[in-house]
Amino acid sequence: MTINIGVIGTGAIGREHIRRCSTVLQNARVVALNDINRDNCQQVVDQLTPEARIYDNAIELINDPQVNAVLVTSWGPTHEAFVLAAIEAGKAVFCEKPLAVTAEGCLNIVEAEIKAGRQLVQVGFMRPYDSGYRALKAVIDSGEIGEPLMLHCAHRNPEVGDSYTTDMAITDTLIHELDVLRWLLNDDYVSAQVIFPRKTRKASSHLRDPQIVLLETAKGARIDVEIFVNCEYGYDIQCEVVGESGIARLPEPMSVQLRSAAKLSTTILTDWKKRFIDAYDVELQAFINNVIAGEMTGPSAWDGYAAAVAADACVAAQNSGQIVPVTMAEKPAFYR
Ligand code: NAP
Repeated sequence: MTINIGVIGTGAIGREHIRRCSTVLQNARVVALNDINRDNCQQVVDQLTPEARIYDNAIELINDPQVNAVLVTSWGPTHEAFVLAAIEAGKAVFCEKPLAVTAEGCLNIVEAEIKAGRQLVQVGFMRPYDSGYRALKAVIDSGEIGEPLMLHCAHRNPEVGDSYTTDMAITDTLIHELDVLRWLLNDDYVSAQVIFPRKTRKASSHLRDPQIVLLETAKGARIDVEIFVNCEYGYDIQCEVVGESGIARLPEPMSVQLRSAAKLSTTILTDWKKRFIDAYDVELQAFINNVIAGEMTGPSAWDGYAAAVAADACVAAQNSGQIVPVTMAEKPAFYR
């Protein structure tokens, strides 16, 4: 069975996913494209999907009976309306993060999905599909290190552009930790605090970098995440889980160990796309498989909502300097 996919948003990640569907993944083909900038679609047709039809209207694409499932990879503020339209049309929808730009918007999607009576949404959080995080979760779930007590994490980028702002450290960068750590621990956040260490001279004048986010979970685990987006040396994701009887660390990406010029070294990646390229493949193949099986797994609309609520609390904590509660609606039985 081959799934016909319609893609809304043919920018950077949209093209990456279209390339995946066309050349790497199985049982899917991209048949429909929409972008506010038609030239973007035309480039995709010319370079990647000669048979795809370009739609001037995203809702028309969603409602075309030829389209079995929808990928939403447009600008964040457009996601909510497109996901709601896909649910309304009864179609499975893979939505890149954020599910919606507000927690309220995410809840609208949760409510629409419950009303539709079946899960149709998968949110584009790819880290739960990363082999390293999966191995780490397997160790935690095995009980070998006992109950997790503390997590020490870091999310470092070599540099960011001038348009990157202090709150984007939460909404664009930390958002991946907010999703994956909740999944890793099978736990929810109850409070957030943000501390600003001495600022690097490499950051633009309006950006506070680095930052340390402190999270507390419902089970009482404490998490610290260093976000350092002008660290210069590489794209580096760290996660160490301290349990009652042992410590488990996220594996480093594979790299040849080199003995040369009186040094022992391994390479550190600099590009986030390379760090998680396999995870993106596995994530999207899982979506395609879910569409065929008629049952969604993976990051749900509820997970998208949970990440949005935690992100809001972290941004409020950045602004207030206080410990901010993370207050979620009660989890509907639908998602249990
Ligand atoms: P991008 O390169 O700017 O692409 C977004 C595309 O959507 C652009 O072609 C844009 O057109 C188009 N667009 C904007 N408004 C639209 C509308 N109303 N209808 C249809 N198309 C519209 O951005 P990106 O880097 O691909 O990011 C897209 C989304 O993916 C963002 O939400 C981002 O957070 C997410 N993302 C997730 C990951 C991840 O690791 N999971 C990584 C990267 C991005 P114009 O260029 O003309 O505005």
